[in-house]
Amino acid sequence: MIDVKHLYKSFKDLEVLTDINYTFKQGKTTVIIGASGSGKSTLLRCINRLEEPTQGEITFQGELITEENIQEIRKQMGMVFQNFNLFSNMKIIDNVGYALKVVKGMNEDEIKAVASRRLASVGLSDKEEAYPKTLSGGQKQRVAIARCLAMEPDVFLFDEPTSSLDPEMVNEVLDVMRDITHQGFTNIIVTHEMGFAKEVADDVVFMYQGKIWEASSKDQFFNAPQTEEAKAFLNKIL
Ligand code: ADP
Ligand code: MG
Repeated sequence: MIDVKHLYKSFKDLEVLTDINYTFKQGKTTVIIGASGSGKSTLLRCINRLEEPTQGEITFQGELITEENIQEIRKQMGMVFQNFNLFSNMKIIDNVGYALKVVKGMNEDEIKAVASRRLASVGLSDKEEAYPKTLSGGQKQRVAIARCLAMEPDVFLFDEPTSSLDPEMVNEVLDVMRDITHQGFTNIIVTHEMGFAKEVADDVVFMYQGKIWEASSKDQFFNAPQTEEAKAFLNKIL
């Protein structure tokens, strides 16, 4: 469980998150939606401390996340970004294995076995020896997901993982993500893919101007949104 309490984040004078309070439920999938600039990425980045909150507290399994313990906590949180963030100078198998070496200290044989298994699980066994630049966007994103899976995290944070992909590659990535949502992880997914959100979400968080404007179960949110802003957003996007 990830518990966010009175979280504020400002960049200089610009307040981009205002008094965020929310409990992300253990083992459930929460989809965060909202217009561009509403603070979705900043919220995810505060959760794994890629951004330092200006105020407020975030706890993971009851433990306050701090500068001191974030390295340990990050081992349990995999994050998938819009732009893949693969190491361009490393083969695919080494991209997946890198953190197993430096974070988990596994030996070469173990690393190879785990990385191969994870690449197979996203349908990329034939790309082990390839370099990122030879892969399509959809393939790169599947590598990024395999890299997270290899670390066996408890939590997956997805920040618009399909929004930089050509349309014909969106589904191959959503298929892998769908599979992940069936495996008992705690998933927090920022996406504009509303069909996918309706399918996999347990809960929906709608952000508006740096605040959680509305949060409810998926059925409640999509069937009966409460605020004018959420209704307007859904009308625009559906
Ligand atoms: P979303 O993911 O919902 O599109 P973001 O969290 O990326 O929104 O951004 C929220 C606001 O914070 C935007 O106005 C954005 O320009 C601003 N912002 C995000 N990151 C930074 C940064 N590092 N420095 C300054 N402003 C930022
Ligand atoms: Mg964003």
